[in-house]
Amino acid sequence: VPELPEVETVARMIRPRLVGRTITGGRVLWERTVGDSRAFLRALRGATVRDVGRRGKYVVARLEPEGWLVGHLRMTGRMHVERAGWDPGAFAKVRLDLDDGTAFHFLDVRKFGRLWYVRDLAELLDELGPEPLGPEFTAERLLDDLRARKRLLKPLLLDQTFVAGIGNIYADESLFRARLHPLLRSDRVTREQAVRLHREIRATLTEAIEREGSSFDAFYRTPEGNPGSYQDQFLVYGRAGEPCPACGTRIRRLVVAQRGTHLCPTCQRPPRRARSLGGSSAKRPSSRRGRA
Ligand SMILES: [Zn+2]
Repeated sequence: VPELPEVETVARMIRPRLVGRTITGGRVLWERTVGDSRAFLRALRGATVRDVGRRGKYVVARLEPEGWLVGHLRMTGRMHVERAGWDPGAFAKVRLDLDDGTAFHFLDVRKFGRLWYVRDLAELLDELGPEPLGPEFTAERLLDDLRARKRLLKPLLLDQTFVAGIGNIYADESLFRARLHPLLRSDRVTREQAVRLHREIRATLTEAIEREGSSFDAFYRTPEGNPGSYQDQFLVYGRAGEPCPACGTRIRRLVVAQRGTHLCPTCQRPPRRARSLGGSSAKRPSSRRGRA
């Protein structure tokens, strides 16, 4: 499933082909991709794309005179901007015609992807947590948010209201790099651990964007049709049974919150039961943060 780096790659590639273009019409071939196709096309016709970006796992295009075209790739969605006459093939779901003769295409094998037109982004994305590569996502904020939630680290990182854009792959990779166990409770994370997690989340996502994301199955392709290559850099994800790149211990796969979770049991020490030594996994939470 595409996560932040894959969606960022898509947004960056379609941006130069969409910005400045006016939508002249289009066709919806699969109603459920947009909800109400008539209202969707009516809202978009005549709109000019002013910017294309990303929020969490959503591609967002700002329109003039008003509103936003928003897309979510879900499992297998793809976005292309191609010349007139380009054949999108059997998985075409939506086409938007542009004033220079090109067209925006949304393709989707599994059909879970969605496109929306909204007047205000908040209608759709109000609940999203901070952007992990944005200025508001600081180590200090992460520490405060971890302590406020009292949840296990892995499911918390997957929660889009906690931080936007991270999915199963980048959660496992970030936790490994930060040497934190996925079952560690978020309110027991030390300041030093939070600083490490913050740093490794950002480094993992940044490196993955540089490699145009990960193509872990046949589905994800950049709009140029190329696979991303970050899957070659995975340290633990999908590597159960292989030696840990840091210490050689066999990488294990657990199921956490119904998601396959990959970790090194040596580098990522399991949290101790709360009763042992009356303490928590590593060190006690520092008392000056209060009882939250
Ligand atoms: Zn290890």
